[in-house]
Amino acid sequence: MSDYQEFHRRSIEQPEAFWGAEAARIHWHKPYTQVLQYDNPPFRQWFAGGETNLCYNAVDRHLAERAEQAALIYVSSETGVEQSYTYRQLYEEVSRFAAIMQAQGVGKGDRVLIYMPMIPEAIFAMLATVRLGAIHSVVFGGFASASLATRIEDAAPKLLITADAGMRGGKVIAYKSLVDEAMELAGSAAADKVILVNRGLAEAPMMKPGRDLDYATLREQHWNDRAEVEWVESNHPSYILYTSGTTGKPKGVQRDTGGYAVALASTMEYIYGGKPGETYFSTSDIGWVVGHSYIVYAPLISGMATLVYEGLPIRPDPGIWWQLVEKYRATVMFSAPTALRVLKKQDPEWLHKYDLSSLRALFLAGEPLDEPTAEWISSELKIPVLDNYWQTETGWPMLTVCNGVQPLPTKLGSPGLPVYGYNVKLLNETTGEEVPVGEKGVIAVIPPLPPGCMSTVWRQDERFISTYFSLFQDRKVYSSFDWGIRDADGYFTILGRTDDVINVAGHRLGTREIEEAVSGHAAIAEVAVVGVHDTLKGQVPQAFAVLRDPSVLKDPEKKAALEKEVIAKVASQLGAIANPARVYFVNQLPKTRSGKVLRRSIQALAEGRDPGDLTTLDDPTGLEQVREAVQS
Ligand code: AMP
Repeated sequence: MSDYQEFHRRSIEQPEAFWGAEAARIHWHKPYTQVLQYDNPPFRQWFAGGETNLCYNAVDRHLAERAEQAALIYVSSETGVEQSYTYRQLYEEVSRFAAIMQAQGVGKGDRVLIYMPMIPEAIFAMLATVRLGAIHSVVFGGFASASLATRIEDAAPKLLITADAGMRGGKVIAYKSLVDEAMELAGSAAADKVILVNRGLAEAPMMKPGRDLDYATLREQHWNDRAEVEWVESNHPSYILYTSGTTGKPKGVQRDTGGYAVALASTMEYIYGGKPGETYFSTSDIGWVVGHSYIVYAPLISGMATLVYEGLPIRPDPGIWWQLVEKYRATVMFSAPTALRVLKKQDPEWLHKYDLSSLRALFLAGEPLDEPTAEWISSELKIPVLDNYWQTETGWPMLTVCNGVQPLPTKLGSPGLPVYGYNVKLLNETTGEEVPVGEKGVIAVIPPLPPGCMSTVWRQDERFISTYFSLFQDRKVYSSFDWGIRDADGYFTILGRTDDVINVAGHRLGTREIEEAVSGHAAIAEVAVVGVHDTLKGQVPQAFAVLRDPSVLKDPEKKAALEKEVIAKVASQLGAIANPARVYFVNQLPKTRSGKVLRRSIQALAEGRDPGDLTTLDDPTGLEQVREAVQS
């Protein structure tokens, strides 16, 4: 048995001893009474009875040793702002922001919704929220008003924090007006107060008297105020992060506090190899789980400087990320395969222009890492390139190679082995039996899930069980909704989702949500959205829509105009990231005799593949129409 296998085995067979030792990585205000409380499966409580605080561990705890060290380095290639904050400055900004929130009545357990571009204030806001024992819900800035409204309705925040605008590729994207729309839509769940960070990018945003407050003014008013840390029980929720599933309604993934801090701190040693005082550069966005775990919490808990970047990877030129690695001597970099595929298309000289000797490893996650991209970047950088497989639900990697435990070889196309703490199995979807080596199965985790994984679906314990633990009636195992396969050395390969979730440039989207947005257009009677392979983005959504008035199909101009309108509808409801690459109009969708749309067959045809098993098909006309549409 290799050292790593032994390490993993211990984490599964003796979880209390294993995680009990790991818990020493963070500060506990009050010691826990039990490492693992597991009397109500699949719910579990890690470090029950212990009191801690995420913000204290990320900020205050470092003041004694590293107050003058950089904590947050901010670079925006959109606005040209470049600014560094030491741990002392971070403490001041965060504890002041927390005092501002407190003055607005925010306290333990209240929700604070953060809808922000990548600016330092977004991170101050997250840390300030957890400082007070309040619960943040960060909504990705690329989501439009209807998506934002659903999240407001579900989380019912007391306070919403936003900015006038974000910027992308030199284009100003107004945020505040979307917030106003979403607040209207959310009705009684709308936040009592809105704090606006005005960057001066958009035209003077409308300020609703009695509700909207200007951050700069509040900051002046509370200049000398500092909010104390609110100690919370280890299982107190730190945040909610919404993620797409099979239904049209996103799920609020709820995360704990102590378990999350311990798990993240452990990954910095065992997976990332980042050390206090070094710079960690994650190119993600705070709207996603990678941003929560590896822009904000893990680097700061570990006493590192986190490099926060606003902008595109190729602006002002395709060397920008490498230039930042050189300038700030980043030792760990975390990105997504899509971004690397974009960089791969540029002149390789951009990579050679800079001194990248500080970089020890590059981590990629969020979507399958294709072999050509992995090969290219490994040979260019000549450092380990590690594929991390995980999900919003888990909060930290489930499959990878843990070089900090034992450097083991990587294999192209495979993220690697089950990470310590995760009892990962590949199960036959019908029998629930473990599948033999080389056979496809559902990636499942035998509970208890390790520290830091989702605690429940926000305010919907039943949905937590029915969504994630109901693959097999008699056994409560966690389903990842991904297919996988394993080789004789135990290395996994991911084969795609078992459900209707698609992955566009590393962003997870539910096809049902997009279908609901398309159906919102008055001309559409019915629609099926599928994810279709794309060389750059991994997958893109394509819509197959049935019109209420099929006569439109006879007029190519009207048809083209309608396609544009439908795409615009999705952009206005969900945000441009969900835009269908194409909208095809058909008279009929292929369905089973029981009326279920055959999405898999549509997807296969759209990708130029065989449509598969058609024994349940009701009428071949729909399928023929799809075939003709994609071939036209
Ligand atoms: P999200 O919750 O948005 O991070 O999306 C999680 C999903 O993205 C997983 O269930 C997988 O389908 C996919 N995914 C994440 N990381 C990887 C990876 N390294 N390789 C293949 N698929 C991945």
